[in-house]
Amino acid sequence: MSKPHIVILGAGYGGLVTAIRLQKKMRRREMDVTLVNKHEYHYMTTHLHMPAAGTDHHENARVAISDLIDERKIQFKKSTVQQILPAEKKVVLEDSVLTYDYLVIGLGSETETFGIPGMREYAMSIKSINSVRFIRQHISYMFAKSKMVPNRKDYLTFVVGGAGFTGTEFVGELADRIPFLCRKFDVDPAHVRIYNVEASPSALPPGLPDDLIAYGMDVMRRKGVQYKLSTAIKACTPEGVILDSGELIRTGTIVWAGGIRGNSLLQEAGFDVQRGRVKVDPYLRSYQFPDTYITGDCSIVTSPEGTPYPANAQIAVQQGYNAARNILQTVRGKELKPFVYDYKGTVASLGRWDAVGLLKVKKVKGRWASFIKKMIDARYLFLIGGIPLIWKKMIWKQKGAN
Ligand code: FAD
Ligand code: NAD
Repeated sequence: MSKPHIVILGAGYGGLVTAIRLQKKMRRREMDVTLVNKHEYHYMTTHLHMPAAGTDHHENARVAISDLIDERKIQFKKSTVQQILPAEKKVVLEDSVLTYDYLVIGLGSETETFGIPGMREYAMSIKSINSVRFIRQHISYMFAKSKMVPNRKDYLTFVVGGAGFTGTEFVGELADRIPFLCRKFDVDPAHVRIYNVEASPSALPPGLPDDLIAYGMDVMRRKGVQYKLSTAIKACTPEGVILDSGELIRTGTIVWAGGIRGNSLLQEAGFDVQRGRVKVDPYLRSYQFPDTYITGDCSIVTSPEGTPYPANAQIAVQQGYNAARNILQTVRGKELKPFVYDYKGTVASLGRWDAVGLLKVKKVKGRWASFIKKMIDARYLFLIGGIPLIWKKMIWKQKGAN
């Protein structure tokens, strides 16, 4: 009897953990597993706000996939998925076509622009190693340019759209980075402006308690961040951003952190989607195509009360465990296990040494919260690469992002 072929699309949190768990748990010659990813490395999206601002090197946010998987057990294919054909059980890559018995989709998210004019053309977003290298270089370039063309305040004005977790974490790092850039480029710090524009009445997601939100916003304001709250970005232009009040903020730098949607390949493949994401069954499978498991930002899992859980790395990792286990159960003809989300809490950084968070019901803030966030990062590195990876990415790490 031929072995089942499992194809995993995307080596992000959900896809990579599925692959690592299958590698660990499958028996010899039990199945063939192919992992497809568009880069030869896995990147930790949860770190990307730091290299985007330039407070850390992008090398610390990525790991070669060949260092994480055993290629005798998992075949790795560096390629870009172009089309998923679930009815035919095929995946079209840029250079070949794969057929599968079971598919795992972990292709992550895309930036949600809500159709805001000019957003795609004039704003940057924190999505990948390539995008954060670009943002960091652009910020430095604006500082350099401000010295060449005097009296252009827009070169030293930085606008971040959205003050959810991504916007807040990036703004915190950027504010920490500004004093260094001012010294490097002989710029008076009084000339630099950071605006964080947020459509809702406060920064940080509404799920956090009010006192933590107040603490977080106070920390940011003390770092020099100016909030524009209850204010939506209506358009982006080559001159800057236009707010719903009609005000134009002249800027050479727009970073958009206004939200995400699932990878568009799922909608194109005919899956029923809500903002690009697929509501999955209790075992993380598509209702339409039960041979397909969907993890991470591409999926929607609801609480027992029916509320969708936020898309984050924590749930994607747990889904990776569950998808791998259910694939093994299926191949072995055993009963599937429903996915139960074990929410451990959320911590958002406010720059290098500060953070706020809620661990189940316990509130944390300040340096202690920042330490906990670093421990969460270390725990993930341990999970995928053991102590050597913690050593390489957090202790003996690549310096000099400047
Ligand atoms: P991803 O991790 O995004 O991985 C998707 C993978 O698919 C990537 O490797 C990509 O290269 C690959 N891919 C995409 N398209 C293709 C294609 N066509 N062909 C081949 N490969 C493709 N969550 C938390 O829980 N805690 C945090 O502290 C946190 N911090 C964050 C900070 C920032 C700045 C951001 C932007 C997000 C943060 N998140 C955090 C959210 C979290 O990173 C995401 O929810 C998580 O990455 C989703 O994992 P995933 O497996 O769905 O996709
Ligand atoms: P988000 O959707 O959570 O936040 C986007 C923010 O942009 C919202 O506050 C929204 O009101 C605002 N916004 C939308 N349109 C706007 C407009 N036109 N003008 C101004 N503001 C506008 O998106 P995110 O922050 O990128 O987070 C995405 C997911 O990743 C979430 O599920 C989040 O929990 C997760 N995440 C988690 C962490 C963490 O745990 N530390 C960090 C980053 C992201």
